Amino acid sequence: RRRLESRGLAAGLLGDVQTAILTEPLDSLYHITGELGRGKFAVVKKCVEKTTGKVFAAKFVRKRRRGRDCRAEVIHEMAVLEVSRNNPRMINLHAAYETEHDIVLLLEYAAGGEIFDHCISDELLSEFQIIRLIRQTLEGIHLLHQSSVVHLDLKPQNILLTSLSPLGDIKIVDFGLARKLGSAGELREILGTPEYVAPEILNYEPITTASDLWSVGVITYMLITGESPFAGEDKQQTFLNVSQVNVDYSKEAFSRVSELAVHFIRKLLVKAPEDRPSAADCLSHPWLWQQCPGSEPVPPSPRTPRERSGGSKWAAPHEDAEDK
Ligand code: ADP
Ligand code: MG
Repeated sequence: RRRLESRGLAAGLLGDVQTAILTEPLDSLYHITGELGRGKFAVVKKCVEKTTGKVFAAKFVRKRRRGRDCRAEVIHEMAVLEVSRNNPRMINLHAAYETEHDIVLLLEYAAGGEIFDHCISDELLSEFQIIRLIRQTLEGIHLLHQSSVVHLDLKPQNILLTSLSPLGDIKIVDFGLARKLGSAGELREILGTPEYVAPEILNYEPITTASDLWSVGVITYMLITGESPFAGEDKQQTFLNVSQVNVDYSKEAFSRVSELAVHFIRKLLVKAPEDRPSAADCLSHPWLWQQCPGSEPVPPSPRTPRERSGGSKWAAPHEDAEDK
């Protein structure tokens, strides 16, 4: 067990990890093969455990960034992965290694790539596949939020699939920006990618779990239309589009899905975080429990308290048409 509290962690950073950080050379235990992806401070490579033949994704995260020691941030990312250990919608942490420059997170391998690949106009998924993926995403977020952790970087590049064909289940990755709420006062300052983040984040207003729900709205919009709802010509235009909630619901692509889909997105892309439904609320939205034609009926609605008591907070789309 490691404690970093003496260093004075930034608000919302976790400093406790259970996973041992091993220092033996990674390539003595794994065959490291191709690159799976990369971000600002990390490279992810596919690797095979020599003794078992099992495939993993090794995320090499730099400890020094812009001349600053960021080891505590990487430890925090590990700690969040540990919090999510029993959450089947989150990627699993298998082991961790430390090299001179990096901490290497050995992650469960998600073989189906990013759902981003399905947000590109000419390969869109069917409404029923989109519903299934969004439902799974909400299940994952719901559990995460129950641990008072917000992801803060939900976007189509950070939601992976276990397999591509047939289309598998989702796995949420990238907990670098995730934060624990409530521990150290208000949380402001953290910034994801403007296209996907909620207005309160761009405005440096307090962050809550509702910020993640905004991103679910953006992701749903993208899976349905193949377009990013707020992306502008430049960063400034994108900021403006987000803060004015400038969304076009008249896209041709919406005609291929049910009215309920638009109703669902409209509930999430609202400026005031307190007016957005929670992940649990969303899981009882009728759009997510439509029956797929020609298939077995979907399981009964999720077990939210509201559902169990038989009521639904969701008005039919025509009943609240005036709040558009
Ligand atoms: P960053 O913090 O740099 O964005 P991510 O954790 O998001 O790092 O990883 C970058 C990319 O690498 C992801 O968008 C994805 O394409 C790929 N990747 C990450 N984790 C895995 C994994 N467990 N299995 C397969 N690919 C992965
Ligand atoms: Mg990422």
